Amino acid sequence: MAQQIIKGNTGDWEMVIGLEVHAQVTSHSKLFSGASTQFGNEPNMNVAFVDAGMPGMLPVINEVAVSQAVRTGLAINAQINLRSIFDRKNYFYPDLPQGYQISQFLDPIVGKGEILLDMPEGVKKVGVTRIHLEQDAGKSLHEYNPKFTYIDLNRAGVILMEIVSEPDMCSADEAVAYLKKLRAIVRYIGACDGDMEKGNMRCDANVSVRKAGEPLGTRCEIKNVNSMRFLHKAIEFEAMRQVEILESGGKINQETRLFDSTKGETRTMRTKEDAHDYRYFPDPDLLPLELTQQFVDDIKNSLPELPDQRKQRYISTFGLTPYDASVIVAEQEYAQYYEQLAAKHDPKLSSNWMTGELFGRLNKLGVSIEESPISAKKLGDLIGLIEDNTISGKIAKDVLDLMFETGKDAAVIVEENGMKQVTDTGAIEKIIDEVIAGNADKVAEYRSGKDKLFGFFVGQVMKASGGKANPAALNDLLKKKLG
Ligand code: ADP
Ligand code: MG
Repeated sequence: MAQQIIKGNTGDWEMVIGLEVHAQVTSHSKLFSGASTQFGNEPNMNVAFVDAGMPGMLPVINEVAVSQAVRTGLAINAQINLRSIFDRKNYFYPDLPQGYQISQFLDPIVGKGEILLDMPEGVKKVGVTRIHLEQDAGKSLHEYNPKFTYIDLNRAGVILMEIVSEPDMCSADEAVAYLKKLRAIVRYIGACDGDMEKGNMRCDANVSVRKAGEPLGTRCEIKNVNSMRFLHKAIEFEAMRQVEILESGGKINQETRLFDSTKGETRTMRTKEDAHDYRYFPDPDLLPLELTQQFVDDIKNSLPELPDQRKQRYISTFGLTPYDASVIVAEQEYAQYYEQLAAKHDPKLSSNWMTGELFGRLNKLGVSIEESPISAKKLGDLIGLIEDNTISGKIAKDVLDLMFETGKDAAVIVEENGMKQVTDTGAIEKIIDEVIAGNADKVAEYRSGKDKLFGFFVGQVMKASGGKANPAALNDLLKKKLG
């Protein structure tokens, strides 16, 4: 599809991207303990003995974690593995008191699946390699006293799903679209709140470059990117950096890098560990996780409408274009807002006004749809005024601006400012007569065959009416008068 190209001195370079997304699973308790997952509690309030790595404590799997991972797998059409294994991934870090992270390695709970991206040029399929469950680590705090490091274990043992994609993306836009779509899916099904600011969804971007037709290049992994905007920037910077190295005869070291959002660049964090450095082995404290097909089927039957299904419904019942439908279903809040509009008004007009005019203004204000000063009811009332010919679409844009400025309802603004469309043919005729009288030369030209001038007259009459003349009536009358 839309391969992003980097022009080099030696030719065109293609980028290749694979993402590893860590999503915090929505659950009241942790993966292997009953400790709370409540956000914002005092440090070390949410800690059970298991989470603190106390000797002799045994982990017990949280069923919610299992069903959330299965739910996510089903939502991306993935294979669910009825038997999966928890492994120990061994490494030392002060905020990892067990000395290992319990994760899944060779036998994850979810196998191959796919995610469909709604790109402006069409739908692109990206493969998902696997989803596995793992524990989050704690947090090292330096802000209390710079001489010391304090440890907060509230997050230790919190449930993460790691969703690993195939290296199927070929532009920064596709990578962002993938993360957005995945976020929409887990939010629709309630498996993760997708809050990137809180770090509840973060992503590692693997980036490599190659010349067309060549095998995959060596990749670098950019760790813990925590916003869509940074993801885009980090990928573009990293691909460019690699091209510069390769073109000057260098070679890429496979390594883990960090994105510095203030400088807009990536830098080396550590050289890449290989899997064998972690000495993975099955955790002897945990039995293999065995699921019944019934358990999986029950979850399948309880899945809500997913973004792609909702998109299809909007295309077939509302006649939206695939792309417009995909924009609206991207967030459940958009879809709810839209359905309130479409219940009472023309669905296409509603979609245009929502995704074009409303979103544009909300973007400028930096405000989300939940915080929109214009409710669906208010925007619907404005659309209603267009539908019953009270105002033209053009005037409606000014009305919407005034609604944002004053908070008043559309009808009130139209009334107060005399913005009603003039459908009274007498009034329009009067304006036309004036315009004809004032442009005798142009009228003569038009009548002698210069048809193109018709647009000029429309413009003049519209202008003289303050943009309020009903366009259809204006056209009809003008044709008659010009003869
Ligand atoms: P690791 O376990 O070391 O993180 P994986 O083989 O599991 O490595 O791959 C991790 C991620 O890297 C996957 O999302 C995969 O799609 C991506 N990836 C693998 N090879 C490349 C490559 N050459 N270029 C870009 N991404 C890649
Ligand atoms: Mg990795």
